[in-house]
Amino acid sequence: MDGFGLQLPTIQNWDCHSCSDCCSRHIVEITTEERQTILDQGWSDDDEFTEGTPILVRDQGSFWNRRWRLGQRPDGACVFLDEQGLCRIHAKFGEPTKPLACRVYPYAFHPQGKQVTVSLRFSCPSVVENRGRPVTDQRETLKAMARESVPANVTAALAPGIKTAGDLDWITFRQFSMALEKILATEDMPVAVKLRHACRFATMVSTARVDQLSIEQVVEFVEIIAEAARCEVEADRERTGEEPEPLTRVGRLLFRMLAAQYARNDSLSNWQTGWRGRIRLLKVGLRFALGRGRVPPLQDIDRPVRFDRLEEPFGSLTPEAEEMFTRYFRVKIQGLQFCGRAFFGFGLVEGFRSLALVFPSMLWLARLMVAADGRDRLETSDVARAIEVADHYHGYTPQFNRHQYRWQLGMLAHTGDIERLIAWYSR
Ligand code: SF4
Repeated sequence: MDGFGLQLPTIQNWDCHSCSDCCSRHIVEITTEERQTILDQGWSDDDEFTEGTPILVRDQGSFWNRRWRLGQRPDGACVFLDEQGLCRIHAKFGEPTKPLACRVYPYAFHPQGKQVTVSLRFSCPSVVENRGRPVTDQRETLKAMARESVPANVTAALAPGIKTAGDLDWITFRQFSMALEKILATEDMPVAVKLRHACRFATMVSTARVDQLSIEQVVEFVEIIAEAARCEVEADRERTGEEPEPLTRVGRLLFRMLAAQYARNDSLSNWQTGWRGRIRLLKVGLRFALGRGRVPPLQDIDRPVRFDRLEEPFGSLTPEAEEMFTRYFRVKIQGLQFCGRAFFGFGLVEGFRSLALVFPSMLWLARLMVAADGRDRLETSDVARAIEVADHYHGYTPQFNRHQYRWQLGMLAHTGDIERLIAWYSR
């Protein structure tokens, strides 16, 4: 057992299909030992690099906190990615010699009491498309990876609390996370409705005092508020009919700033440093704040699209897109990749709200792609691409660990705009 059991997502398949997307986009951090291994591999004498040996390893961070990452080509791809889209280290020295980050991707391991729970990053196209063997069939491989990846004291990690870490034990926390997952697993219901139900449940949880309750009382309490949340959302839908409520002005502004975070493109090839880069970022920020005129070029989309075009209906989701989104949220909740250690120490409620906001952000981005293409309806492939792009950032960019982001999240919850955004962008 190695001191922990492994909790696997039950609804996800995956195998690598060698698309090399991960090696082309991600910044790969490596340890000091891995850096030394690469330097010892003798790449400087290697004639594989026809234009001379590039910088294989770069440093990052301050000199008192030196960290390392793999070198990248000018287009942002890893220096070890060859012309056929294969890894040179893998080809020459074998898979086990690759850096751990490369071997683990797209898996992510998070503590859950005596267990380690496994999630997957949907920035990998094979994860989005659910291609490969069931993850549950890969238990032994994942167990070996987990032994390498997780810290020795993983089982000592505190449960994410309702608001902050430490105010719930793991058994109580699990009642809430399982309830969220159960809501998302409801069959024959659009994912947008399930998400609104789960958001309403989270809001009810946010005011709960459960520290005096026995576990039996917590189980009963969770059932009662899940049902109350469902009834409230149903009543709201009957009241408003098919037409979603419009967003508040503040909600529209804050959401545009959030969507910009998910739609950006961070490959090294388009990083601009110095004053020119800052001025460009400032201009983009201003355009998003105003929300008028043309959307600035994002994600290599440079055909003109106006902000107001993205607020028009783009049709309901295809059944396949519904399935992708449902699986996305269930895997993230099952794998606890939305709060606690996996998400900057966020508590259950704040972490779930943040996860729920990924949905309208992905749909905004998908609309941008569709509109730039001169179409007016979302296809499954647009949604798949938007999920890949946005999940690349969720939980992995320091922007989400800033006070400003937590404030934005709190405001959107306070104005009731999180649920409105979910309904608005799913039509
Ligand atoms: S070392 Fe190999 S697997 Fe890792 S990012 Fe580079 S090319 Fe990809």
